[in-house]
Amino acid sequence: MFTLKKIKNIIISIGTIIRSIYLVGLQALNKRETILYPDKPICLSDRFRGKIVLTKNQDGTERCVACGLCAVVCPVNCIFLQKSEDSNGRWYPKIFQINMARCIFCGFCEEACPTLAIQLTKDFELSSYSRNSLLYKKHDLLVSSTGKYHSYNFYHKSKLLKSNKCNNKCKAKPVDTKSLLP
Ligand code: SF4
Ligand code: SF4
Repeated sequence: MFTLKKIKNIIISIGTIIRSIYLVGLQALNKRETILYPDKPICLSDRFRGKIVLTKNQDGTERCVACGLCAVVCPVNCIFLQKSEDSNGRWYPKIFQINMARCIFCGFCEEACPTLAIQLTKDFELSSYSRNSLLYKKHDLLVSSTGKYHSYNFYHKSKLLKSNKCNNKCKAKPVDTKSLLP
């Protein structure tokens, strides 16, 4: 026996279903927010922190001076490096390794680097089936590019090299290297 209350509930239920179909239909006509990666490329922010690289100066020399600040500041201790020195007294890393399996992409190393050598890029496709392949050695990290900062050269600014050919041409004032700021 249909009571008035039951009839009311049936009408409300049918109304709810029709409303739901209407709302879903509205969304179906809206612009799609989901990006069909990897079929379509993803546009990432310039501040995105992905794969780490070691950049070079415009003249092709290494920027890293093996100061070790990045390794000290890294909260998960995933950077290991060993300093060496060339005939000009320039420091460079003989060994530079980053364990990307431990890296949390915090960007602290990039912040701490006085020579802008270490930089985080937009490359996020780092997955691998082998944990060993995530131990990036120097030749994996070093790129022939200035990265985000094209004209900066730590040794030209600081004039620290004993025989820096650019010293005569460079008009920029030496920076206070102890401030750790570029
Ligand atoms: S991004 Fe953070 S965790 Fe990764 S190497 Fe740099 S300091 Fe370490
Ligand atoms: S902080 Fe920069 S210059 Fe110093 S060791 Fe790290 S990458 Fe090299």
